[in-house]
Amino acid sequence: ASVPREGELPVLPPGIDRPTFNTAIAELKETLGEEHVELNDKPLVDGWYMEHPNTHDTFHVLEQSKLVSSAQVYPGSVEDIQTIVRWANKYLIPIYPISIGRNMGYGGAAPRVPGSVTIDLGRRMNKVLKIDGNSASCIVEPGVTYFALYEEVQKTGLPLWIDTPDVGGGSVLGNCIDRGVGYTPYGDHWANHCGLEVVLPSGEIMRTGMGALPGKNGADNPSWQAFQHAYGPSVDGIFSQSNFGIVTKMGMWLMPATGHQSYMITFPEEDDFEQIIEIIRPLALNRVLGNIPQLRSVIQELAITGRPKSDFYDGKDPIPMEVIKAHAKNMPCGECAWVFYGTVYGPEETRNSQLDIIRQEFSKVRGSKFFLPEDMPEDHYIHPRARICSGVPELRELDWLNWKPNCAHLAFSPITPTRGQDARIVHEIVTRLHKKWGFDSLPTWCVSGREMHYIAEILIDRSDPDEKRRAICCMREMITEAAAEGYGEYRTHLIFQDQISRTYGWGNQALMRFNETLKDALDPNGILAPGRAGIWPKSYRDKGWEI
Ligand code: ADP
Repeated sequence: ASVPREGELPVLPPGIDRPTFNTAIAELKETLGEEHVELNDKPLVDGWYMEHPNTHDTFHVLEQSKLVSSAQVYPGSVEDIQTIVRWANKYLIPIYPISIGRNMGYGGAAPRVPGSVTIDLGRRMNKVLKIDGNSASCIVEPGVTYFALYEEVQKTGLPLWIDTPDVGGGSVLGNCIDRGVGYTPYGDHWANHCGLEVVLPSGEIMRTGMGALPGKNGADNPSWQAFQHAYGPSVDGIFSQSNFGIVTKMGMWLMPATGHQSYMITFPEEDDFEQIIEIIRPLALNRVLGNIPQLRSVIQELAITGRPKSDFYDGKDPIPMEVIKAHAKNMPCGECAWVFYGTVYGPEETRNSQLDIIRQEFSKVRGSKFFLPEDMPEDHYIHPRARICSGVPELRELDWLNWKPNCAHLAFSPITPTRGQDARIVHEIVTRLHKKWGFDSLPTWCVSGREMHYIAEILIDRSDPDEKRRAICCMREMITEAAAEGYGEYRTHLIFQDQISRTYGWGNQALMRFNETLKDALDPNGILAPGRAGIWPKSYRDKGWEI
């Protein structure tokens, strides 16, 4: 959708008048080249996943024109980034770095502060700088997508896998520093990164891990991608989900290719989930479940066909479970309430002995059924799922965005221990509040071992302001109620980052005060991504920016 924009454009950074902005932009164009600086003064186009905008959030939950940049800038080198950072300090203009800017459901390419200048790192800095077969690792620039890394690895002929999230168009680096997840044994992306290069808000450049020790004759350190911790305080963490630096290079471990077998198990009753999770825990901890498996509500079997909700249900209200189950009965999964997708790895003998245990344990849930990919028709979701679980990027997960017209999604993603009783509390909150605010509930548990990421996607018709309002109310209530029970989110959309960061308030907001101390020391002018992760620089604090 493209709506004519009102008022004088572009939207200015806070506290900057138009003549100063024009002077600043002219200077930036002069230094970087006219073609590498673009004003955000045209109609906003939401595009779609493959042609996403870098001007705002494709999946806007506020009005489309609320969270927008004033301009986009396209650095071609680390030096360009340093130049931009120094420029921002000179004019006190907020800058907001993105790698690819898809970041679906979490704010897309939008800056938190309207009128920020978006640094689109990915447009020109998009090379895989190294693939090392010996240490099974790579170094990527911000613009390398999962598809691109996959192709580059394939070209080398080395037996290595990448780990990809549900859709493969995002930035390997951007997703990792936002602590996204994938589904092979390397699914915890942040845990598998090794070494960063960062431009600090001062414009200085720094390397972390072994990269801080120069290699012989100025070469990169030979162990940069082999050892994460190196020496001294481990500082990598402060550059993830933060606004303390711009990451320009990142090392990432690749997984040695291995045999794999995906499978699917269905469970008949909605109330089965507590028992299922109790079975999952020891299997996950013992690594019998080889990857990060997903337990998905059966509504997703309907949605992932790419057919709209109206094909299944006439009402405007949330589709009732009986109706979902009645449709599932005629689908390959059969009548059920939950579908579990998992993969085992290793040589055939290992896989078979793991599968024996898995079958045996889950058969304790009355009415459960076990399937292999060959039991399912060619167009069934198990096939792309199996590819994702063996390191092949996919786009199929986008198909549930046909559920509604103008569909956008917003994720509520609390963490719980892998325990039935915790799962029940969170699931009950989510189910009740989705119903209250009129949304279908599409929950998935992604189990990594001791904890689970519970991902509940709210699907919104972007053209309906009331639906957007209700989605925000639903999110805010879920965050508050979950926090009261001790559950917090691992990642969130821009507009909920303040609220969620406040829930991590143990010790009279000790963690946030620590982050603010870092922010003020590293970024005294408060130019880098103010407000990201709820961290506001001194110049913005207590001036009404926090929401
Ligand atoms: P995606 O990989 O989904 O396209 P983005 O590139 O939008 O994701 O990155 C997600 C978020 O992470 C951004 O909104 C931004 O706040 C942050 N980010 C991305 N890349 C960098 C970077 N190189 N340095 C610092 N922060 C970044």
